[in-house]
Amino acid sequence: MRKRLERHLDWNLAKRKALVTPEWLRDSVAQDHLLPCADYAALPDLKEAAEKHCPRSTSQSIQTPSYKPSSPFPSPHTSFIESPFRTAHVNPGPPAFLLPPPVPLLTPKLDHTARFSCSRASPLISVNQSLCSAFDVLRCSRVLEGNERSALSYARAIARVSLTVNSAFPRKITASERSEVQKLPFIGAKISKMIDEYLFYGEIAEIEEKRKSERFVSLSLFASIYGIGPVTARKLYDRGLRTLRDLEAYYEADIGPAPIGQSDSTEMNIRIALELRDDLVQTISRDEVEAIHSTILDHLNAVEPGCVSTLVGGYRRGKPASNDIDIVFTHPNTTSAKGLCTRLIARLRSSGLVTHVMHLSSFHEYNTLRTAHWDSLEKALTVYRTPNDGQHRRVDLICALPDTYWTAVVGWTGGTTFERDLRSAAKAIGLKFDSSGITRRRDSKIIYPRSEKEVFDIIGLPWVDPTLRNTDA
Ligand code: ATP
Ligand code: MG
Ligand code: MN
Repeated sequence: MRKRLERHLDWNLAKRKALVTPEWLRDSVAQDHLLPCADYAALPDLKEAAEKHCPRSTSQSIQTPSYKPSSPFPSPHTSFIESPFRTAHVNPGPPAFLLPPPVPLLTPKLDHTARFSCSRASPLISVNQSLCSAFDVLRCSRVLEGNERSALSYARAIARVSLTVNSAFPRKITASERSEVQKLPFIGAKISKMIDEYLFYGEIAEIEEKRKSERFVSLSLFASIYGIGPVTARKLYDRGLRTLRDLEAYYEADIGPAPIGQSDSTEMNIRIALELRDDLVQTISRDEVEAIHSTILDHLNAVEPGCVSTLVGGYRRGKPASNDIDIVFTHPNTTSAKGLCTRLIARLRSSGLVTHVMHLSSFHEYNTLRTAHWDSLEKALTVYRTPNDGQHRRVDLICALPDTYWTAVVGWTGGTTFERDLRSAAKAIGLKFDSSGITRRRDSKIIYPRSEKEVFDIIGLPWVDPTLRNTDA
């Protein structure tokens, strides 16, 4: 009905398009060419418009793209990389990325009961936020104590209760719905009991105690310093350290003067992070994230004109304030994209914008057996100094090759449980996902998606908007 359509789309806009039913697409695929649209108009009133604006239905029109790709690589020489899930014919003539994006005939839907969080909608602010934050205390505590297994079950519980209970929309867990929640995957006996306690008393005794415990408070504080992991945090605690002052005194005494510029020793990094702590604990507003991105992009394009980038991380998931800034970038030309990170860093350093580089790794050969690295992307974890007021900000710069751009964007958008589940979902169908590509395990064939949507398509997942990937507390 027109009324219903108008809830989603302006009528005048609708009249400038060929709005058709999904049958048009199915039949066009079945017959291997674009069918005339008039017979498939979404509404009788739109039949004329559908006819007028229908893509030309000769096979020639398929080869003459009218689709403006969202892909940042408008090079007509981009080669087509075979996807194992694409059944439609592939014409070697036109570059595949110029065709309309693939629309799976059966689009999987987001489902709140799905096992993997990458098939569910996880909004930024959960209606069950205080329960999520409570579970996060235990998750952090388990991480700090080195109990990864237990940490993982709390991470899963958070991703689970952070969203919807039994509808497509987030709902608060109430006493009447508790049994439904408790039936969901990854909500075991212990967590069920905690949910009951929470519903009855509004808090969970074990968690409230943990929040106040000296050990938890100190370990959390230590681990908030960039470079201090759980193992180091526990060592420091065992040596009797408790406060920030203790930490400063310890590192002051233990290590010589702070080095200027690049450092690769962990201890030196900790020292730097301690010195910059007052700046680095501050969160970064969206405006500031955008301003820093824009400055960095100017420098990037001075190094190599024509670069493209995406702000990823928490910013992309809609967080109003981020702990750091994550930027994925590339150049459409593979040769120009190589070594871009090193060149950019050199420039940012000499202009005084980057004061420290915590970690600079570059491409290594693609190695399907590698385990030590998250991915083989060239990246620099830096400290950036704002030119106006000299505030220090953490900026992660990730340089992808054009082929790995979209997996890098997905891999660096997060959240953490979303990423973990994405890997599991890929594994379940014989693929390996990481930020530097998707590998088919059977024959180690590497698949490079040509859009963010295609990453999801290849793994057989429904599209999840970045703002619905907030699986963490
Ligand atoms: P915030 O920065 O506000 O704390 P965030 O979600 O941006 O939130 P980050 O630690 O910046 O957190 O991580 C951003 C994303 O990048 C996450 O999805 C994480 O999985 C991914 N990521 C972080 N570090 C690495 C790494 N070394 N290799 C691969 N991926 C990483
Ligand atoms: Mg971040
Ligand atoms: Mn980061």
